[in-house]
Parts: sequence; C-alpha cells; structure tokens
Amino acid sequence: MQSAALKSVLSVDQLPTDYYNILHDLPAPLPPPLDPRTMKPVAPEALLRLFAKECLRQETSTEEFIRIPDEVREAYLRLGRPTPLYRARRLEQKLGTPAKIFFKREDLNPAGSHKPNTAVAQAYYHRQEGTTRLTTETGAGQWGTALALAAALFGIDLTVYMTRSSYEQKPYRKILMEVYGAKVHASPSALTNAGRKYLEKDRAHPGSLGIAISEAVEDCVTHDGTKYSLGSVLNHVLTHQSVVGQEAKLQMDELDEDPDYIVGCIGGGSNFAGLAYPFMRDKLRGKSEADFVAVEPKAVPSTTKGEYRYDYADAAESAPLIKMFTVGHGYQCPPIHAGGLRYHGKAPSMSMLIDRGLMRSVAYDQNDVMAAGILLAQNEGVVAAPESNHAVKAAIDIALECRRRDEAKTILFNLSGHGLLDLQAYQDKISGALVDYAPKDSEVRASLAGLPS
Ligand SMILES: *Cc1c(COP(=O)(O)O)cnc(C)c1O
Repeated sequence: MQSAALKSVLSVDQLPTDYYNILHDLPAPLPPPLDPRTMKPVAPEALLRLFAKECLRQETSTEEFIRIPDEVREAYLRLGRPTPLYRARRLEQKLGTPAKIFFKREDLNPAGSHKPNTAVAQAYYHRQEGTTRLTTETGAGQWGTALALAAALFGIDLTVYMTRSSYEQKPYRKILMEVYGAKVHASPSALTNAGRKYLEKDRAHPGSLGIAISEAVEDCVTHDGTKYSLGSVLNHVLTHQSVVGQEAKLQMDELDEDPDYIVGCIGGGSNFAGLAYPFMRDKLRGKSEADFVAVEPKAVPSTTKGEYRYDYADAAESAPLIKMFTVGHGYQCPPIHAGGLRYHGKAPSMSMLIDRGLMRSVAYDQNDVMAAGILLAQNEGVVAAPESNHAVKAAIDIALECRRRDEAKTILFNLSGHGLLDLQAYQDKISGALVDYAPKDSEVRASLAGLPS
C-alpha cells in the first residue's frame, strides 16, 4: 500500500480560480421564483433590498465560470482550502468490500462545515457594495457560525436570530458566534414585530427556522446599511460551493481514480451540489455515467416522498415560491439531531436533476445514520456531523452492495462537517435513547394538499 494513495493534498496554487455554475449545463432553464402576492415571476430587483447585487446577478447567470475574487481566495487559503481528500481504507477493510471509498474533508476549518465556502464569498460581495451590517437566521448554528467567521474576516457587523430551542440547548455554537463578534438573539425575540407576535402567545416559544427568517428579514429592511444572507438552496450559494467538487476532481485525477458513485447529504442541497456538480458537468455532456446519490433523513423526505412543484420558500408564506422537491412549507419537522437537514424543500437545480433521473435519492433513519458515524469514527478516527453521517451511511450501503456483487467500484462522499459540537447525538445513540421519526404517507399528502397548483 503506497501511502500517497491514502490521501491527496493539493498545493496552494491548485486552489480553484473560478466557481463552476451548473445553470450553464442544465437540461432546461430553471422555472422562475414566483411572487407570493401576484404569482408572477419575481423581478430580481425586488430582492436588492435584501441580497448583495453580485449574488443576485449570479443567481440567474448562465455563464459557466465565475471568477473568484482574490480576497475570497485568500480567505479560502486562510481557512484551510484546498481541503484534503482521504481514502477510508480501514473502513473498507472492516466492511470486507472490494470497493474503494474516498471522502472530501469539509470539516477541518474553524467553523467546522462546508458553509464558510459561501459565507466568505457573500461577506466579501456585501462589503464591496458598502454594506456595514448583515442579519441572518440559524437553526442548529452551523450557518450562523460560518457567517460570523466570514463577517469578522471582512469587517462587517452581524446579527443572528437563533431558534430559541437551539440557543438554550446547544449554547456552544452561540458562544462561537460571539467569539467572532456576532450579536446572537434567541428567536422569537422582542426586537421585531414578527418575534413579539409569537412571544405574546408563549414567552418560552421554542422558535422555528421560519420565524427566525422573518425576524432576520424584518431587522434587515428596517435598518439602513443592513443586508441579509442565506446559507443554502439559492443558486449562487451552490455555485460558491463548487470549489469542493473542483478540488475533488483534481484529487481523484491525481490518485488516478474516477468515482462510480458520488454521495452527499441534502438539507437545502449546497454541500452535495458543491461536490457533485463539477462531476455532473461531465455527465450532462455525455462524458460520465457516474451514479449521483443524494441522502436525506426519513424524517424530512422531500425527494423520496414529496413532490416536485412550486412551494413557498418559508413557513410564513411571505418569501417567493420556488419550484423544488418539497414536503410542504407547513410540514412539522420532527426534532432530529441533523438540524441542517430539516428544511422542507431542496435546491431548484438539484430538484430538476432528481426529477429528470440524472441524480437519485435515498432516505435513512437517524439510528442507522449514527451507527454509520460510529463505524467511521472507530475505523477512520473522524467524528462527523449527524448531517454528514447520512452520506457515510449511504456510502457504506453501496460498499456492502459491491461486496455482494463482488464489484471493485469507487465511491466518493462529502464529509460536510465535524460532529464535535453534536456529541449529544452520539450520546443518545450509545445510550439507546435515539428515536426514529418518519411521517406517514397520509401526513405528507396532507402537508402538500394546501399548496397552490
Ligand atoms: C447545513 C449543513 C448541511 C445541510 O445543508 P446543505 O445546504 O444541504 O449542504 C449538511 N451538513 C452540515 C455539516 C451542515 O452544517
């Protein structure tokens, strides 16, 4: 066994110079977002009050490559890019599979997930456009942490609305955000009309991502010089994540490998798109037959039980409608540990690829997912986020299928984040307290029933 084949580390000058934009290669244009009041396509200018101008330009751009600004590349270097790609050799041996398993390490930066890839780009564009303050929402805290880090690097103030249940039960990411200088409020808060409405009914309201979004948007539009940032789902976010797959492609080439399976977990779709789309580019051009596998929790079965249709992007029905795979914006998401996989819909480009059979998806229970994470930890030493363990579980299942068929296939998955601030999920798995949740088909149908057709 040559040690070189266990790991690929790129040099500083191999950091990608451009983002890859899948909109250039999609089989059809994306259906436009619709204004919830008129049900007509949203004019991008209507969103200028919230988003950076350059992000909105990228949102609908069909140019294939978008240059990464020098200062953003510098920030990437500072945060550990290019990230290494590892081979899970001991895990392969443990499984007794002839398959090779590779994984891309997006867990090694100080924020602990892939999310800084877009956070630093967004913070940079905002600062270039004169923005001095940002607002955002966060559930479990990964996005808030990534944006707090990026805001610190680019000298922007940040206010984060964090769902009260996470704020109280998971204080460590809140502390991390504060270390980076962000102001963090438990949501619902008394600072906005949206928050006060819920607080009046229940002073200990646990909050939800939908409420936190409403608060962050209200705070943004009522304060001069303030803009807003989103960490997933939108096209420009997926484009920023393409640094992951571009690096992985170089690394697989250097190892003289070509993945047969490309695997990732999906919350809004950004980390998997980041890894997958530079490879999908080849498939869309007839140059690859790789199998793309998107992995979601059974508790939020957007692509495995939901429908591909227009749905509101937010629970309050005030954000635009997007054509996507969804379980319905009113779906009551069970309290699974993979907080980053609880969004009701999936990114529009990824939804189209799944709808057209260019990607497929699978769903798992959290007990099986955490068991996979423990197997990874005990064989490779890496403690992955509960979200990432969905990808680990799928990669293991494919490797076991390869053993049954005696096929020496190559599997590549994205390790989207570390689990060192999610140890309660591991504790619950080890103590036997972890509960599986899956909606009945009738519950999903009921959730979808009220959507506009
Ligand atoms: C946020 C998050 C996800 C889910 O978001 P995507 O946009 O689907 O990538 C997955 N893994 C980790 C570690 C996260 O923090």
